[in-house]
Amino acid sequence: MADILSPRERSERMSRIRGKDTVPELVLRKTLHGLGLRYRLGGAGLPGKPDLVFPRYKSVVFVHGCFWHRHAGCKVASMPKSNVEFWSEKFAKNLARDARVAKELAALGWRVFTVWECELSSANKANSTGGRLAAEIRGA
Ligand SMILES: [Zn+2]
Repeated sequence: MADILSPRERSERMSRIRGKDTVPELVLRKTLHGLGLRYRLGGAGLPGKPDLVFPRYKSVVFVHGCFWHRHAGCKVASMPKSNVEFWSEKFAKNLARDARVAKELAALGWRVFTVWECELSSANKANSTGGRLAAEIRGA
């Protein structure tokens, strides 16, 4: 990705991408709902405010942006060519927070699943990701 944006511009753009209720996220939810899984939105008062909470299965799902949360091996998670220090620091903070939140949730007995933005990049993908996720959530 050509780094033509200033850190602030990119930061703003990326945080908008992270916005809730994107079409693929809605497809994911619809798929899960169609498979009989009932969830709560808004974090249910849990650490890190998980995007989806499945009380019956004591499971939570985070829908993570690949860029911000550094999806390993994903082309969306490229390192910007300039302001490397700024970005490195920001990413390190995000990853540290993700790890801390996952640990807190696990300590409370929750299973933590992550869905990556690139796994929802089309309605088809969101649909199959939802199917896989439903199986994992139901799995022992
Ligand atoms: Zn990705």
